[in-house]
Amino acid sequence: MKRLIKDARKVAKPFRVTDDSFRLKDFDPGDTLQFTSEDKPRAREALATGIALLAELQDMLYAQDGWAVLLMFQAMDAAGKDGAIKHVMSGINPQGCQVYSFKSPTSEDLDHDYLWRCLKCLPERGRIGIFNRSYYEETLVVRVHREILEKQKLPPELVTKDIWKERFQDIRSFERYLARNGVVILKFFLHVSNKEQKKRFLERIEQPEKNWKFSANDAREREYWDDYMEAYEDTIRNTATQVAPWYVVPAENKWFTRVVVAAAVIDALAALDLKYPKVSDSKLKELAAAKRVLQTGKKHRR
Ligand code: ATP
Ligand code: MG
Repeated sequence: MKRLIKDARKVAKPFRVTDDSFRLKDFDPGDTLQFTSEDKPRAREALATGIALLAELQDMLYAQDGWAVLLMFQAMDAAGKDGAIKHVMSGINPQGCQVYSFKSPTSEDLDHDYLWRCLKCLPERGRIGIFNRSYYEETLVVRVHREILEKQKLPPELVTKDIWKERFQDIRSFERYLARNGVVILKFFLHVSNKEQKKRFLERIEQPEKNWKFSANDAREREYWDDYMEAYEDTIRNTATQVAPWYVVPAENKWFTRVVVAAAVIDALAALDLKYPKVSDSKLKELAAAKRVLQTGKKHRR
């Protein structure tokens, strides 16, 4: 277990961003560290072992009922968010896990501040919460498409040129607040290239069982690729902190994406030094008495 945790740390660390020195161009979407595609079967095995370990850590997280874990996934379309969530969380007890997807806001959402709908979905203590997209859309798609901001019903005097800087400040403060309340936050940007996205869209069009995943609108968004990349870079640079790091995960090779995401989650859970709650002396006595009753069939002595 110790070796696995050490390996996880080694795999996750190169992709971890915790300050404002981040530059997107320093990260290669095709990176697989020292592993080649021949290592794929071994990676798959490591992932299975990692997932088993993750399940064990999650069981302790649940029993201890103190920390909560929030995993947020952001990416361009077809980068593999759904697959990463599905694979990495596959061994986890569904009772300890809560997944929410955030799509275009509803009219009820728009009647509130932008964190409102996400606040309602924060994980309880002892749980792992997953946000498939999140309030980060507020400095990504909303920044790329200014008309979305105009529909947010904000008082006009509050929409100034500083709005993005203010949102970054608010998000940083909000995440610090969560961290101080025992929420462990990890943010994943699944980093795919423009070329690879095109290839995956074409597959979605050509393979009937993938047709449902394709929307013409997703392809139209490709026109704004550079704007999105700028928005991602600025968002990550301004919201990467020690208490709420970003992981810029190479997403060109799905097997590697999943290994990195699992490694980052294992690393974060292992750092909590989770333990099953210590049983008190009176509880131990109660257990011994119950055992006696079960074994002998005699009633409890009052
Ligand atoms: P996904 O694209 O996440 O795989 P999907 O295709 O099932 O999921 P969509 O209907 O495409 O779901 O919903 C996601 C869309 O919602 C994205 O284009 C995203 O930019 C948009 N969205 C999410 N949050 C917001 C927000 N706060 N404001 C505006 N648009 C948002
Ligand atoms: Mg979509």
